[in-house]
Amino acid sequence: MKHYEAVIGLEVHVELSTKTKAFCGCTTEYGGKPNSHVCPVCLGLPGALPRINLEVVNKAIKTGLALNCSINRMNRFDRKNYFYPDAPKNYQITQNDFPICYEGYIDVETEESGKKRIGIERIHMEEDAGKQLHSKNGTLVDFNRSGVPLIEIVSKPDLRTPEEATQYLTKLRSILFSLGVSDVKMEEGSLRCDGNISIREKGTEVLGVKSEIKNMNSFKALEKALRYEFDRKVKALQEGETLRVETRRWDEAEEKTVVMRSKEMANDYRYFPEGDLVTLKISEEWIEGIRASIKELPHEKEERFVAEYGIPKYDAMVLTLEESLADFFDETAKISKDPKGASNWLMGDISRLMNEKDILAKDLPFSPQDLSDLLLLIKEGTISTAIAKKVVELMMSEGKNPKVLVEEHGLVQNSDEGYILDEVKKVLDAHPNVVEDYRNGKTKIMGFAVGQTMKATKGKANPAIINKLVQEELDRRIQ
Ligand SMILES: [Zn+2]
Repeated sequence: MKHYEAVIGLEVHVELSTKTKAFCGCTTEYGGKPNSHVCPVCLGLPGALPRINLEVVNKAIKTGLALNCSINRMNRFDRKNYFYPDAPKNYQITQNDFPICYEGYIDVETEESGKKRIGIERIHMEEDAGKQLHSKNGTLVDFNRSGVPLIEIVSKPDLRTPEEATQYLTKLRSILFSLGVSDVKMEEGSLRCDGNISIREKGTEVLGVKSEIKNMNSFKALEKALRYEFDRKVKALQEGETLRVETRRWDEAEEKTVVMRSKEMANDYRYFPEGDLVTLKISEEWIEGIRASIKELPHEKEERFVAEYGIPKYDAMVLTLEESLADFFDETAKISKDPKGASNWLMGDISRLMNEKDILAKDLPFSPQDLSDLLLLIKEGTISTAIAKKVVELMMSEGKNPKVLVEEHGLVQNSDEGYILDEVKKVLDAHPNVVEDYRNGKTKIMGFAVGQTMKATKGKANPAIINKLVQEELDRRIQ
């Protein structure tokens, strides 16, 4: 039997989070009363003239730079002509010949294929269309979305598996979010994903017949739709069918792709330059100004945490999922010089408490300095780990420095050997069977004695000293 592989490219539409639309002053706010965020420009009324919103150009360039693209210095828009109720001008302003960004890449990593570079062919700017509302009584159109700025990010057909495609979209989404260019909410449509997929025999370079899949609007849908389409194509070829170039739609309810249109019905968009908008010259200073405003991206931070602090890759991945958590860790690691300790507490007890309170690291009532002080208290043996857990809860509820809390609540660890030995003796007197078991070689019973002593001292006795004294006292008693 022949072995096939998929050749996948993704087209991702991203709504940019500008205050106003791409070519007029209307708000881009999501929702609102139908047809309340409109004006003559975005309604395509005769004689209305568009003007470029420079924030759109800035955000497109910012995205391109973060995705390692080159930037086109002459920026021109084109008209894509088509006739449909959601486009009142009968064309969409987009970029055909000269996309603002080109030739970039994103690095992905999957278990199956390891590290891999996925090329980005182009990023172009365009405007969104209106929304059709279908009901029993007919179809209505809401133009609130008409003219909302979009960028379309087109990957090269470098993806080979649905996992790689999911990884690519995950990373892209995280980069867009941290750049602040979009809120990337798939459920509200500010991030939409279409894709092209063809299959070929493994080891060959020819491109197969491709289908375009629309409506893969969640990560689950993306993976399922690509998997379904791959299997469908393999089965068709094995049964001797001829594949056709077509556009298909992912049907979420039926969990399959269905034909929307075949190539014979393809549109001719008659692209030509948009004469109502000036050609922008994008200078070196303009680009460098934007480059300087780009902060360290999550995946760069993740790599730095591993290299600089020597924490495990998994820790670095979890800590960089949310920006303020990454910053909190970064600062605590620097102050305390105990990165692993900082990561353990932030990923463990502190994350649990943050989830309970539904807050982010930036809302924590204590500072990285406070957490560093806690790590130091543990390291110096002033408090045990068990007590530290209590202190963290107090830090969370009272927002005070751990040194103050330890003082106020009398939580200092007791390392007084005389006092601890007395407690050990009391425990062993009360449980003579412990000594018997120990005499018979059941050394595990020591754990019980340690636990009982810990309880008797209300968790304040130094565990290392309890351990040592329990062993010494047991050895003495069995002689
Ligand atoms: Zn408008």
